[in-house]
This record gives sequence, C-alpha cells and structure tokens, in this order.
Amino acid sequence: MNIEEKTEEDSYHKRILGHYKGEKKGSTIVFIGGMHGNEPSGVMALQRVFKHIQRYQPAISGEIYGLLGNLTALKAKKRFISRDLNRLWFVHQVNKLNEGEHNIDEGIVEVREQYELNCIIQQILKKGHGPFYFLDLHTTSANTAPFITVNDTLLNRSFCGNFPLPIILGIEEYLKGPLLSYINELGHVSLAFEAGQHDDPASIEKQEAFIWLSLYFGSVISKKYIPNWKKYWQLLDPVASDQKRFYEIIYRHPVYEHKPFLMRSGYHNFKPIKKGEHLADESNKTIKSPSKGFIFMPLYHNQGNDGFFVIRYVSYFWLRISKFLRKVPTFYLFSILPGIRAFPKEESLLVSMRMARFFTKDTFHLFGYRLIRSWGPVFVFKKRDVPVRTARVSKD
Ligand SMILES: [Zn+2]
Repeated sequence: MNIEEKTEEDSYHKRILGHYKGEKKGSTIVFIGGMHGNEPSGVMALQRVFKHIQRYQPAISGEIYGLLGNLTALKAKKRFISRDLNRLWFVHQVNKLNEGEHNIDEGIVEVREQYELNCIIQQILKKGHGPFYFLDLHTTSANTAPFITVNDTLLNRSFCGNFPLPIILGIEEYLKGPLLSYINELGHVSLAFEAGQHDDPASIEKQEAFIWLSLYFGSVISKKYIPNWKKYWQLLDPVASDQKRFYEIIYRHPVYEHKPFLMRSGYHNFKPIKKGEHLADESNKTIKSPSKGFIFMPLYHNQGNDGFFVIRYVSYFWLRISKFLRKVPTFYLFSILPGIRAFPKEESLLVSMRMARFFTKDTFHLFGYRLIRSWGPVFVFKKRDVPVRTARVSKD
C-alpha cells in the first residue's frame, strides 16, 4: 500500500482538523495541536479559528492546515502513551517511514501516530506551495508568560521577530528529535509556541491570538479579516513589548534518577538570576547558577531530565553580526584548520577537543553551526541554515 492510499484511508479525515485553500497562491501554514495529549488548548483554539473562517469566509492566499498530533494520547489526556511523539523525528527514522522500512505494527502507539502524521506532512510538502510554516502549539505544566522556542536558523529568526513574544533560540542543542528540527532540516520555518499552563482557559485565548497573528505574518490572511487584532496583540504582549526579546540558552542542568533534585521555590520563566545564586539542591549539594542571566523552565512538579535552563539576552547587534557571518562560506575554510575535519556527507565538522579550546561553542554558534553530538574528545558541529530540500519519498 503506498503512502497516499494509507493516508486517505486511515488518518486523513480524523487527523486534519481543518484545511482551507484560497484562490490566490501563497504560503502554506501548518498548525499542529495536541502533539502532547495533555495539551489540548491548541486543538481548541484551532477549532475556534476554523469556525470563524468557515462562517465568514475571509480571502485566503495559500493554504492553512490544522493537524492533530497524538490522537491516542489526546483521548487519554496524557502527554504520551509509550513514547513522546515529539522526540521521534530523526531524519533517518522519518526516511525509513517514507521508504516503508519501519515496522509500524510493532505495538508502540506513537510509532503509528508518527507514521500517520508524517504521511500527511509529506503530502503537504509534496503538493503544497512554499514558503512552508510549521507551527506547533504547546503548553507547559507551570504557569508562564507565553513564548516561542525555535531552532536558530535565519529563516526562523526573521519570522519569529514579527511576534511580540520572547523568543528562545537554540533549543535544538538540548532537545533530541522534535518535529520542528526535522522540518528545519528540510529548510522550512518551524517553531513551537508555548501559550501558558496546560489547563488554564487563558492558554486557549493565547493560542487563538497566536494563530491569527501567524496567519497574518505568513501573508495568508490580510489584517482586515483578523477579528480582533488589538486584543490578540495585547494577549501576547501584556507588558507593551517589554519582553519582546531574543534569548539563547547558555546552560542546562541535567537531572538524574539517582540524584534527587529540588528546585528552590519562587522561580518562574524569565526571572533574572545572579551568578552563584542558590537555585536548587541535589543530593545534599547546593546547585548555584553558573552565570548571570534568566531562569528558564525550572522543574517543579513534573518528571523530566531538565532541572532548569539559564538563558541570556541576545542583542540586536549580535543578531546582525551573526547574520552576516553565517553567510560567509566557512565549511571548507574551517576544514583546512588543524584539528578540524569536514564530514561532507553529513555536512558536519568534526572538531577535536584541542581545537575546541580556541574555537569555543560560542564561536561556532556565531558562524551558524550547532553542536549535534560529542564523541569522546571530538565535537560534531552542523550548519544550522540549510537550503530548501525535499524529503526522500520513494513510494509514490
Ligand atoms: Zn508540549
């Protein structure tokens, strides 16, 4: 059975919450709600927006899709059943799905969920018109001001910069296998929007605001058709642009099962912290902040491997410098330096520990590389910005 038939039969109708195609050509915007089953606010907001579009029939340039993520987990109101659906999108794994090599009947719920969702995504990419925007709607366990997390590509930066929201760059070095990293590997814009706490009704309103603003910034619907622009803007930016900033992650504190971790009370996203500030306790050890910055995603009442992150503000000056440096063709230039080897097949650079003393992670960031893994004394960096490419789909 080829991918298209499978999609038509099994998942197309139940997984596509809405699909609108305008008469004029334009971008394709794909929203995903419920990638985590205990985060229904994105789905509810998409239903509201689609109801409005259905009723008032605004002029659309391009296409809008609303997709459901983990259907089984949404029904069970759980983050996931067996595996986190948002940690399975490794390029080699998706290529296997596309080529029919993956056994989707091996009994893991999320493998089938991923297969079905991927069928639709591949069809959208194949049949739709670019530019493509993939916007993944999430919420968090603790209360938070809304924010965007995004892989640090120039395309992502320029789209995210439209929103009156804090933007956290460089999440790809800390999360392995989110859908957004896969989409970025294909050269398209993709981001995650975190609206607020899972069950807070205000999160639905903020998701709705984000969806409408995205439709405008993606040039799919003009401003005159957006029902309440001012309200939406203020919902995302209640403090009049005070938090419209780019941040980068500079530290992650890992949590291990054998080391009980207790975050000190009173921390929330974007709270300023000092270097050496006592943030948590771990197996009778005091955990202090390694540097000045802002706290991000402190771990309180949910399980996870991330105790907290420290983020710092990135000035527009540095954003401009790095934008310029990323356009310099550095791949082969770096590879002739001692201690650095190019690995063209993976488009990555292998950097020995000896060289990493002179060329730090920050230097590679500035030139647009991200750390993808370390093998003992060797660090592997990969270029963040890639040209648009199509996924390998052999069965069509
Ligand atoms: Zn989530």
